[in-house]
This record gives sequence, structure tokens and C-alpha cells, in this order.
Amino acid sequence: MKPAIKSEKHQPSVYAFTPTQLRSYLLAHNFKPMHAGHVLAFIYRNAPLPHRLQQFIVNACSWELPFIAQLKVSDSDGTVKMQVELADKLAVETVIIFEKHRTTLCVSSQVGCAQRCSFCQTGRMGLKRQLQTHEIVAQYLLARDWLRIHNHQRTITNIVFMGMGEPLDNLDALVDAIAILTDAHGLQLPLRKIAVSSVGNPDALRKLLGIYPNLNIAISIHAADLAKRAKLIPAEKKWSLRASLAILQQHGRNFLAQYTLLAGVNDSIDDAKALAELLEGMEVKVNLIIYNPIRNGRFTPTSIQDVQRFQDCLFKQNIRTMVRFSKGSDISAACGQLFV
Ligand code: SF4
Repeated sequence: MKPAIKSEKHQPSVYAFTPTQLRSYLLAHNFKPMHAGHVLAFIYRNAPLPHRLQQFIVNACSWELPFIAQLKVSDSDGTVKMQVELADKLAVETVIIFEKHRTTLCVSSQVGCAQRCSFCQTGRMGLKRQLQTHEIVAQYLLARDWLRIHNHQRTITNIVFMGMGEPLDNLDALVDAIAILTDAHGLQLPLRKIAVSSVGNPDALRKLLGIYPNLNIAISIHAADLAKRAKLIPAEKKWSLRASLAILQQHGRNFLAQYTLLAGVNDSIDDAKALAELLEGMEVKVNLIIYNPIRNGRFTPTSIQDVQRFQDCLFKQNIRTMVRFSKGSDISAACGQLFV
């Protein structure tokens, strides 16, 4: 068994246990592993638990959560950005995005990010450290509890790993957090409501899809000309985009291709044609993202007319495409703007 995460008191965090780990933990403490489901229901849904087992789990584990150090609400669209302070005083940002029929939580997987994509504020932080499983799960719990108090008509319906960090660089914690979020006894989120966004790390992507074949995947493309992509996303130099796309095809997966439009950089008709050629024959939907300017950034957003031109070109090549207007840009909560 992988050891559960230790808190400062050297107790495991109760939010770090996957169902499998919890079964082993109970067995090691002379409880029946078959009670793991009941314990998870107790932890996450306050379901009743036999007294002796309840006493054990309450006393043996740390129930501490990080806290919301700062919270901003967008005047324009209601997006909520939480700055979540961790036990070591580092912090990550978590964003709640409201749409008509869904409430999406954008969670962080790392403090900072090592990938240093040229248009992303988080990348400028570099990687401070990996988030542990319980710190990922905690972002969900904090957002769930905040909604219960401040907006009880809404519950989180979708989770996207699109916050700070490259999720595939923190694969073990990502895999365990998804196991906890989707467990049928605990938080009960459907896997089809969870998406992981990545610049594409082929080995990690293969492993992740081996564990969760039906997980939604979004690949950040941003330029189909791979030399140009390497300038925007340095990761292209070590992980080939084509290798990640091949893995998605091998798994017969439809996926989301994310493409941030940067004026004069990757938004020409030739860029659109190259993108259509790269994605030809794949089960893909392209998400065109209007660039959100960052402090001292060197890019500007593509004009609406040019976005339309780009989209029309993709339509003509039979590529399904939608334009995403990021929410929360007035509170720096939009794509590429997260930074602490
Ligand atoms: S876009 Fe994603 S992978 Fe790239 S630097 Fe930002 S957080 Fe990291």
C-alpha cells in the first residue's frame, strides 16, 4: 500500500485515501476492509458509521483542510476564484465557473508549473511543488462547502483539471484524486464529468487512459506547425504532440483540442488549414480560446472577425469547432491567468 499522506501531526489525511488504500488501512488496524465504503460515505456525505469504527477514523486521521485565504467574485459573470492556502503556506487557485446548465470547478494539480508555456502566467512561477492527493480533493470540498453557504442552488457538476500545473506531471496524485472524486460511496462524481487538460506527455497519457479509459482529455495544441508550437509550448521539444494524438487515436478516443488564438502568431488562415490537416480523421472538437492577456505578456488577443475567419476555415474542413470566451478575466481567473 502506498502510504497515505501525513499531516503535520503525522496522521494520515482522511482525504488522501482512495477506496483501495482505505481497505488496506482498515485491515492493518484490525477492521474489516469491506467497511471502506461506509467510511467513505461517512467522510464525504456524513452517513452513519458504527461507533467504534467512527471513533477510530476520527481519531486516527487528520481532518484538516487548507483554507480559503482570498476569494474574488467576478462582477461580470459571477465566476469565483479561491486562493487556497496549504499547510506549508504555499497557495493554489481554484475557480468555480457558472454556466446555464452546469457548474464547473477548475482545480489545480501543482503549485506553479514546470512547463513555462509562453502565454501562461502560471508557467512564469516555475514549479514550486506537486500537490498531494488530499490537497486536490480539498479544493473540491472547499468549493462544495462555499456553494452550500453562498449559492445553495448550485452544486458542482463538472471538474476540469485546467488550473495551475500540468496534471500529467503529477500523475499519481491525479489518478488517486480521480479515484476519490468518483467513488460510488463517497463523492460520487461521474467520470464522464471530469476532464484533464494537458500539453501532452505521451507516457503519462498512456498510463492515465489505461486506468481511466473513459476520462475526458483536452490536449493543448495552440499551433499545428510544430516548430511554432515548440516556441509557444517548450514541452513540444521533449514530448511530441503527434505521439499524444496517436495514443488518443489508438484508444479510439474523441477528445478536445484546445487552441488559444494569439494575434499575428497562430491565427492566420494557413494556421487554420495546418490545424485541420493535423486533426484530419480524428474524433475531435476544437475549442478556440480567446487569449486572456497577462501582466507584461507579449501577446494580444485575436480580433473577433479573425476568430470567426479561423473558425469558418475549420468548419469548411469539417472540423467541429466552438469558440470559448473564458470567464472570470476581470478577476484574473481565466485560462492562463492563474498565479499566486
Ligand atoms: S498552460 Fe498549463 S502546462 Fe502550460 S505553463 Fe500554464 S499551467 Fe503549465
